[in-house]
Amino acid sequence: MSDRLAIRSLFAACNRALHGRRLVWAFTALVAAGHLASAQAPPAPRFIVVLDAAHGGDDPGARLSTGQPEKAFTLALSVRLRSLLAARGIQVVTTRESDATVDLNHRAEIANHAYAQACLSLHASESGSGVHLFTSSLAHTQPTRFAAWKTAQSAWVPRSLALAGVLNSALLHAGMTVTLGRTPLLAVDSMTCPSVAIEIAPERGSGQTANAGLDDPGYQARVAEALAAALVEWRSDWGSGAHQP
Ligand SMILES: [Zn+2]
Repeated sequence: MSDRLAIRSLFAACNRALHGRRLVWAFTALVAAGHLASAQAPPAPRFIVVLDAAHGGDDPGARLSTGQPEKAFTLALSVRLRSLLAARGIQVVTTRESDATVDLNHRAEIANHAYAQACLSLHASESGSGVHLFTSSLAHTQPTRFAAWKTAQSAWVPRSLALAGVLNSALLHAGMTVTLGRTPLLAVDSMTCPSVAIEIAPERGSGQTANAGLDDPGYQARVAEALAAALVEWRSDWGSGAHQP
């Protein structure tokens, strides 16, 4: 309805109200003219994934056996995963697109502003084997209107654990070794979305899995494909309302 039309119908409704008719007509016209905040519909929920390539700039992260700093590995994985997700119609927000220094608070701010349905914080390590999935060690608390910084994740712990479960299934399905854990996570603990820190280590080849170093392009591709498959699964669960508050 145009503003002029809305105002004309408001006058008409007021007239009727003045004549002892139902006041609700005036209210309806006000709503139609967009003057009552309560009448505004919330923005349509969208499925957005935040990819946080950990480290960067002044913070190189771990030195990998390939000679590459962790910050370069995480950025390459973020770029690869972003394009896999874009090809599946998933909107992605990244915390960095280059070798930039991004402090932990700013990473959480980016994730929180995006109202993301999933945030993956990407790391790499030479210790351990396969993929390590870490969720926050904060105890679960009920959501409050204003969440305290550094413990905001506490209200999201169950959904972060559910996201880790979906990631775990997809990685196992792709034949990888997966370790699940909970730990204090400085950036993730301030995030108000389902968040998991993912640390990629070389595959040490126990049992059915083969050895694969962090510099193995096939291994990098398998990890990225499995993470993308997990997020597609997470999106369909989200669409069915399975992980909504
Ligand atoms: Zn790291």
